[in-house]
Amino acid sequence: MSFSELGLCPELLAAVDRAGYTTPSPIQEKAIPVCLEGRDVLAAAQTGTGKTAGFALPILQGLFQNGARRQPNRVQALILTPTRELAAQIGEVVEMFAASLPVRLTSAVVFGGVSARPQIDALAKGVDILVACPGRLLDLINQKAVRLDNVETLVLDEADRMLDMGFIHDIRKLMKLIPTDRQTLLFSATFSSEIRSLASGFLRQPVEIDI
Ligand code: AMP
Repeated sequence: MSFSELGLCPELLAAVDRAGYTTPSPIQEKAIPVCLEGRDVLAAAQTGTGKTAGFALPILQGLFQNGARRQPNRVQALILTPTRELAAQIGEVVEMFAASLPVRLTSAVVFGGVSARPQIDALAKGVDILVACPGRLLDLINQKAVRLDNVETLVLDEADRMLDMGFIHDIRKLMKLIPTDRQTLLFSATFSSEIRSLASGFLRQPVEIDI
């Protein structure tokens, strides 16, 4: 299968090509069309499978194609991930692909262990796509630096690691601040009963993807 069969717009196809991706990885092949349809997704995928582009490309396309309806500079897509390294990597992929679109989509990355000030300043300028670790995001919400009431797509990346790292309470608090009328994409390397219960609480009739 080729990227051109997945439903991506010409601008993102060109960006994928420039990134040197010639063939979609299995997770991309399965996830991209389903994400573009707006369905919820429960995917078993580890780091290194190409899952980042698997969710980043459909998110960007959705924001691009909904241009007129968009609420620019409000967080419309939120990607929760457990570590600062993952957050930074995801932020880079989002930025790289966003730069190929003829609209300006802004993104920011927030994680703990560093000063919150630059993150607060970035959020104050307005952000369409936010990549965040749960603890710092809650801090920033408590400081009124960001709101989640315009989120339309939520990604729970490496959900099993987020649970292992004790983020479950933070995630549950964040979920209460995100509209229920949204698309949710959950990626996890393993499917424990805890992950299943998280998924049944937060996803609506998800398409299950196993690669
Ligand atoms: P990820 O699993 O999303 O962290 O991606 C792992 C690595 O694979 C990253 O360095 C990506 O740039 C690369 N990658 C993702 N998708 C593809 C693809 N379709 N073809 C080649 N490389 C890819």
